[in-house]
Amino acid sequence: MGQQPSLMIDRAFFEPAALEHDLGRRLHTQLTKLLPEVRVLPPRGRVPVCCPPGDIAGAYRAAKRTLVVAVRRNLTFQRCRPSADWQLPLVTSCPGLCAYCYLQTTLGPHPYIRVYVNVDEILAKAAEYAATAATAASAASGDGRATVFEAAATGDPIAVEPLTGALTRAVEFFGRDGRTLLRVVTKFGSVEPLLAAEHRGRTRVRFSINTPSVVRRWEAGTATIAARLAAAAAVARAGYPIGLMIAPVLAYPGWREEYAELAESVAATVAAGDVARGADGKGLTFEVVTHRFTARARDLILSRHAGAGLPMSEEGRRYRIGQFGYGKWVYDTGQMNEVKEFMADLICRHFPGAALEYVV
Ligand code: SF4
Repeated sequence: MGQQPSLMIDRAFFEPAALEHDLGRRLHTQLTKLLPEVRVLPPRGRVPVCCPPGDIAGAYRAAKRTLVVAVRRNLTFQRCRPSADWQLPLVTSCPGLCAYCYLQTTLGPHPYIRVYVNVDEILAKAAEYAATAATAASAASGDGRATVFEAAATGDPIAVEPLTGALTRAVEFFGRDGRTLLRVVTKFGSVEPLLAAEHRGRTRVRFSINTPSVVRRWEAGTATIAARLAAAAAVARAGYPIGLMIAPVLAYPGWREEYAELAESVAATVAAGDVARGADGKGLTFEVVTHRFTARARDLILSRHAGAGLPMSEEGRRYRIGQFGYGKWVYDTGQMNEVKEFMADLICRHFPGAALEYVV
């Protein structure tokens, strides 16, 4: 299915504290046999930079092929609206090189793939958040709905799942805990470890898909669409509720035809009626996000992906202050409405039984 992450990583570094955990020790033994460079960092030591100063794009790419095995110390979870209540921090970054990546502005100049070995502690913290929410709901005589966690807010856990197995542990944990639901979204196909997990319909696995033009030009280092759809079919067969995310929708010349072809080919692979209904009550779900960028993201993208040609002109765009209080360039009103209506209609026609969660 997806390419093995061990083949997408050149170097691995371990925080000394990571070796106090079973997962850290196992990864150290395993990676020492696979990679030419595996080192334990000195206490509070930094990962050595392997590019000459000023090589911004080289440093970015090298970081995306560098694994850091760490202990997650900050156990204060971040909010994750609108897709969930809280982020579940199992991993930071991923081996992909998507030019438009939504993490461009948050992970700094060296977005190392950081996996956390204190998984039990992270999951115990999630249970605490859920317990607090349940207590608050019962005090307010509320409905006590499940607390929803998003495992892909800071990276792509499925990209490294064959190495860590952390997401599988989370899936089983959330399967046992009746107060929580888990969501994850990926551009990778390495879902084999998840297939036998006891998920009890409480984890929704979503796959990010796009047209062949978008994938070829702006999603380097990720799995092919065929591999993502094969993975979607595999997790659906394993009884998971699944979703498809089309993000970003880019209105390039010929976009209507290509998104229509994408919907047709996906419908031939994934029939909405065959997808299990999850503990959230939904069958196949869709999420659609139109392309947008901040001025800061544009500068970073131009320095890291200079030749990618991602359309980021202000012409045909509107500057909008979003829910988090900062401005983004979104499509102008006419183009935005056209894209939203077109995508909603496409999904309705090809997937009549699916739930369209949002088009933004
Ligand atoms: S796969 Fe997701 S997290 Fe990774 S580079 Fe692409 S958009 Fe960013």
